[in-house]
Amino acid sequence: MKAMYKRSMLIEQERRLQIIPSWIDDESLYSWCCRWHLHTLNRTRTTGVALFGVPSAAKVWHAPNPFGWFDRVTMGLLGAPSSILKHRTVAGSYLSLAQQIDRQRVQLGQIPPAYLFSAKSGVGASLRYCETCASQHFLEHGVAIWRITHQLPGAGVCIEHCRPLVECMEGRQIWASPHSTIGREIRMVSSNELQLMVAVAKVARKIFENAPLDVNALRGSARKVLCEAYGALDAKRLDPERVERDWRCSILYQWCARSISVAKAFPRLWLTDVIRGRRSERNPMRWAFAIAYFCEQSWTSIDGFFTDATVPHSNQISLWADMGGIPHEILRAFTTATNLKQAAAELGVTAPTVRRWVCTHPEIFLITQHWKFRR
Ligand SMILES: [Zn+2]
Repeated sequence: MKAMYKRSMLIEQERRLQIIPSWIDDESLYSWCCRWHLHTLNRTRTTGVALFGVPSAAKVWHAPNPFGWFDRVTMGLLGAPSSILKHRTVAGSYLSLAQQIDRQRVQLGQIPPAYLFSAKSGVGASLRYCETCASQHFLEHGVAIWRITHQLPGAGVCIEHCRPLVECMEGRQIWASPHSTIGREIRMVSSNELQLMVAVAKVARKIFENAPLDVNALRGSARKVLCEAYGALDAKRLDPERVERDWRCSILYQWCARSISVAKAFPRLWLTDVIRGRRSERNPMRWAFAIAYFCEQSWTSIDGFFTDATVPHSNQISLWADMGGIPHEILRAFTTATNLKQAAAELGVTAPTVRRWVCTHPEIFLITQHWKFRR
């Protein structure tokens, strides 16, 4: 009897909302909830129950589980739950890099989005907004919003206005609009640093928007960049200490050391660990910083990196296999050259191509043992 009473109470509480404002630009789900809350003059907990059936929903600001209840009370007018999750919450960044099976299970609502985050994954403990964006939205809509692009893992600046975001540590447990919370602008010490943080934010947005991304392809691309940069034939011959030293001298590292818990976000030797496949790397924050770091070193460009990670590799080796062996001239070029660059020049192909041939073909690997490598 008591259970039945409880059940009817729950049904009683799940009511279709009277007002369902449409999305403003790229605002986050949390932002929408805050605006709704503002209209109703509810108490925090009342809004939580009305929107999600959970009084404490505001606490899970980075991705309140939008399935079921939220979908029903908004009558699906804001889009499919899986689409809201992907485009309006930071879960989108994690979904881009997630394993196929996890992605499906989260999108079907079988597991909560929080399953994709881990304590170390850099899901920020803060809400962020840009003063210029906030003023513009205020003028246009009478309210400031939380843009999802400003909440992505790694985003510290507004790409459009090239200015540091304001970070709000307080008010995370309530439905709070940008201007109603106390915040502090994220500190940048030089214009170089600011520009590099713009690069990080751009990569973060690319990860968020490009779904799904193949982590193995990203890793292959990163491996290529690092091997090329250090003149190593493969990831095994890279000197992890040297890679780590250079990372620690970078402008991006300096920013991280000052602004975040760097030992947790980027543990020692993380770059070589990632490309050697020692850890399954599905952390959007690490990828955002890794790729922006490659740009800082002028080893690649953001677009170049992503193009490389999505283009299938040359199939020339299998072509040779079909021909019944590697042409004699090619073998000779490998034998007479004394390093990778020379062989590439002689064969008229790029250095990464030569490296790939060496790595994938034991016959070539054996005849290049005399090569010298820049370390
Ligand atoms: Zn802005």
